[in-house]
Amino acid sequence: MVDDKQIGNYTEDEMKYIVDELEDIFTRRTFEEMTPYEVLVRTILSQRTRDENTDKASESLFSVYHTMEEVADAPVEDIAELVRQAGFYNVKAARIKEVSNILLEEYDGIVPDTIDELIKLPGVGRKTANCVLVFGFQKDAIPVDVHVHRISNRLGLVHTKEPEETEDVLREILPQELWLPLNDLMVQFGQNICKPINPQHEECPFTDMCQTYIEGLE
Ligand code: SF4
Repeated sequence: MVDDKQIGNYTEDEMKYIVDELEDIFTRRTFEEMTPYEVLVRTILSQRTRDENTDKASESLFSVYHTMEEVADAPVEDIAELVRQAGFYNVKAARIKEVSNILLEEYDGIVPDTIDELIKLPGVGRKTANCVLVFGFQKDAIPVDVHVHRISNRLGLVHTKEPEETEDVLREILPQELWLPLNDLMVQFGQNICKPINPQHEECPFTDMCQTYIEGLE
């Protein structure tokens, strides 16, 4: 349930402007060449690490084990060694193997395309599930990670404390055609301009609307 106090003072046109500007600055990554299963594994690997480590670990794993069946049958130590680059590799390897087995045994080897089913999988929270919907199935969803949460609050699109609240508010206020591109664009914006520490205001196209900048808060 969204509280009015959590909703910022932006019009739909202003929200479209933000996404359009981000699309002008960054090339949106769609991951359309990946299967939903590969997206799911990649998203599990991406937890608490950088994109380049995620990419290396994901490529390394799928260069050796090509299918869900092969990953499910692989020794967990071998998976861990292949995904070492992603950090927390023992935990992530065990999770990937467990999820692969569950998908084979309970879902006929097909990754579900609904949030309710995806979050039943061990270690799959709303952010991961929403990433699978957006990047694996190209379905309208809003994955809220630390970047989307921080930037939405800095801009004043939302006034929230938790990423789950941010997702709820964005789903309420953001025109649906903006859901799909939002995550990847805000992630790149957060990595390059609106960084967690020392945001690069001078490079930002939103200084005339950003609440944090206007109020001199950071
Ligand atoms: S003006 Fe600064 S704080 Fe606001 S969105 Fe841009 S970089 Fe982030």
